[in-house]
Amino acid sequence: MKVTLVKCPKCELPLYMETQDEFFYCSHCGTIHTRNGPKVERIPYEIADFRPDAQTDNRVYVPFWRLHTDFRIKSRDVKGGFFNKIGQALKGGDKGASIYIYVPASQMETAAFRYWSVNLTINNPRYSARTDFAGTPRMPATTTRDEAIELADFVAVTLEAEKPGTLQYLDYTLTVNEAKVVYLPFMSSRSGLHLAV
Ligand SMILES: [Zn+2]
Repeated sequence: MKVTLVKCPKCELPLYMETQDEFFYCSHCGTIHTRNGPKVERIPYEIADFRPDAQTDNRVYVPFWRLHTDFRIKSRDVKGGFFNKIGQALKGGDKGASIYIYVPASQMETAAFRYWSVNLTINNPRYSARTDFAGTPRMPATTTRDEAIELADFVAVTLEAEKPGTLQYLDYTLTVNEAKVVYLPFMSSRSGLHLAV
């Protein structure tokens, strides 16, 4: 096993990394840093608690980028589907909405990536936050914030493709206001990942 020694940029205590995780978590001061090119940046994050009846075996935390976006429709001709749902939610001709788009920050198969980004974006998970990981393993992060923002459009288009509806024409802008990492609790089994909030 390759062990990397780095220092926490905030408290300067050494961090021992056992995996290739792009998010450097310091258990001393509770900060997470990541590299952005030559720079080291602190990442705002939350840890969601497991639901009380969740089994203690096979627990894993999976990081997601939660992008708070302004979704603005410039012009459209959409019948059904997710965009239509957004359009219906808009009141009085205001052609914008704020939505949270979830992008997995860990490496996943395409099908799992699509499944979790779509489901978490449509049904934002509700959870109580906690302040530490309580020894639960974390899936290593591979996706940078800039990559997550680029993937937000892919998620938006995937949402439409997942829903029965006909996207005929859509001209929109997506503006990301805030990018935060949320560690969501999962149970890992042979059949895949199961959300445990
Ligand atoms: Zn620290």
